[in-house]
Amino acid sequence: MRCPYCKTDDDRVVDSRSAEQGAAIRRRRECRSCGRRFSTYERIEAVGILVRKRSGIAEPYDRAKVRAGIEKATKNLPVSGETVADAVAAVDDHIRTAGLREVPSETVGAEVLSELRVIDPVAYMRFASVYKGFTSPDDFARELAHLEKDAPPKPPSG
Ligand SMILES: [Zn+2]
Repeated sequence: MRCPYCKTDDDRVVDSRSAEQGAAIRRRRECRSCGRRFSTYERIEAVGILVRKRSGIAEPYDRAKVRAGIEKATKNLPVSGETVADAVAAVDDHIRTAGLREVPSETVGAEVLSELRVIDPVAYMRFASVYKGFTSPDDFARELAHLEKDAPPKPPSG
C-alpha cells in the first residue's frame, strides 16, 4: 500500500480488526519509510451478475437499463411512476434471487415482458416489438393473438 504521506510503497500491518459490523476489515499500517501510520479497509466486492447478449458479449446486469426499457414502453400511457418502480423491483428481484452469475439477455427481456403484460397491453406490445424484433404488421397480429389467448386473469378491482 502506498503511504499517503510520503508515497512510499512499503509498509507493515500493525493491526487488523473487524469493522462496520463485520462488513469490512480495517488494517492499521505503518510506513517503513517515514514511520507514520494509516488505515486501509478491505470489503467484499459486490457480486455482479452478467447479462449475455445474443451477440455473445456479456455486460454487467444494470437495473437502470431495466428501468429505461420499462419507462420507454410505458411512455405516455396511464401508468404511474410507482407501478414502473414496482415492475423494476420485481424484475430485479427475479434476476437476483435466481442466484446465477450470468443470465442470457432473453431472460431479462422475458421478465420485463411478464411484468408489462399485467401493466398495460400497449406497453407490452411496444416492448415485445423491440425485444422480439418485429419486422411486419403480421408479427404484431401474431403476438396480439398470443397475448389475448394467454391473458392472465384480471386482478380483482376494488
Ligand atoms: Zn510514509
